[in-house]
Amino acid sequence: MIRPVPAIAAMAPYAVSDPGPAGALRLNQNESAFGPSPSALEAGRMALATAALYPDPAWRDLRAAIAETHGLDPGQILCGAGSMELIGALIRAYAGSGDVVLGSAHGYLFVATACAQAGAIYRTAPERAYTASVDALLEAITAETRLVFLCNPANPTGTRVLSGEVLRLRAEMPPDALLVIDQAYAEFDDQEARPLFALAERGDTVILRTFSKAYALASARVGWGLFPTAIGQEMRKLLNPNNIPAVSQALAAAAMRDTAHMAEITHRTAEIRDVFRARLTAAGWAVPESWTNFVLIPFASAQAAGAADAALRQAGVVLRGMAGYGLGHCLRATIGPPSDMERLADTLIAIRECTP
Ligand SMILES: *Cc1c(COP(=O)(O)O)cnc(C)c1O
Repeated sequence: MIRPVPAIAAMAPYAVSDPGPAGALRLNQNESAFGPSPSALEAGRMALATAALYPDPAWRDLRAAIAETHGLDPGQILCGAGSMELIGALIRAYAGSGDVVLGSAHGYLFVATACAQAGAIYRTAPERAYTASVDALLEAITAETRLVFLCNPANPTGTRVLSGEVLRLRAEMPPDALLVIDQAYAEFDDQEARPLFALAERGDTVILRTFSKAYALASARVGWGLFPTAIGQEMRKLLNPNNIPAVSQALAAAAMRDTAHMAEITHRTAEIRDVFRARLTAAGWAVPESWTNFVLIPFASAQAAGAADAALRQAGVVLRGMAGYGLGHCLRATIGPPSDMERLADTLIAIRECTP
């Protein structure tokens, strides 16, 4: 029988979240608690009229919307079919067979998958208190390290590294290693965007963002990044031509221009998150402070987390198990509307009270 190439044969499939029973409350994929901008939905409906045509391969209007909103050069912006496409393309372009890609201990797992696809070696540096450590990352860099991935704020821990620390990481990294800062949750963080965007000017740093979280457009599959010109040129060779459907481009461009809606829903999400976290903290859980639309809930052991996961599913609530992240004792809960979070907190507390 025909065999796949060795790197693919050796791979485990990407672990997608088990959706649980029909009708369950799903708080497992960091989807937005609120809908996208109404003007985005209207723009998406209008774009349906062009369904017979290929989409704009240069994402002109979408790039213009991003560039205007963030004060960036549209020439440095590239868009992907989700930021996952951009992560995959970066690794294929810059890490070949045997090259090393470095991440943080509980970094975003899709990076490991993309490394496996490319035959690259994925290594991690330890974290402290569920938080990436710039010192540990610097210590783990070797001559073989081609790329360093830092997800900030981080999935699945929710924690963040201060921008000053990220700037120090870049300054102390070898100049021939590429730093990729995955800012999928940056809109939930109150740190200024500009100092990190400015890093792209150096030629050795890429910033990635997505419409899937703060803009409530996970289904549209649109991510974007700020790329040094030379890196952008290589990326274009790897991205699928016509990678983003016209409807998705229209949804994303209008969502980007409706900054008030995004600010409103991220603010409300953060408020619900902080109430939920305070309630769990009062009940005795040590939930790390989060700058995202989810929280990480640590249990006493992997066994306790597994039992809670099963009991929650029994009660119709689906969270994300974290064993793949080396956090088998944790569950990750996406922030939903207040009533859903009350139901989750009630259920968690009831489960804890029945377990000795
Ligand atoms: C959700 C997420 C992404 C974005 O994925 P899309 O492909 O844009 O939907 C990227 N990185 C991290 C860490 C995420 O959590």
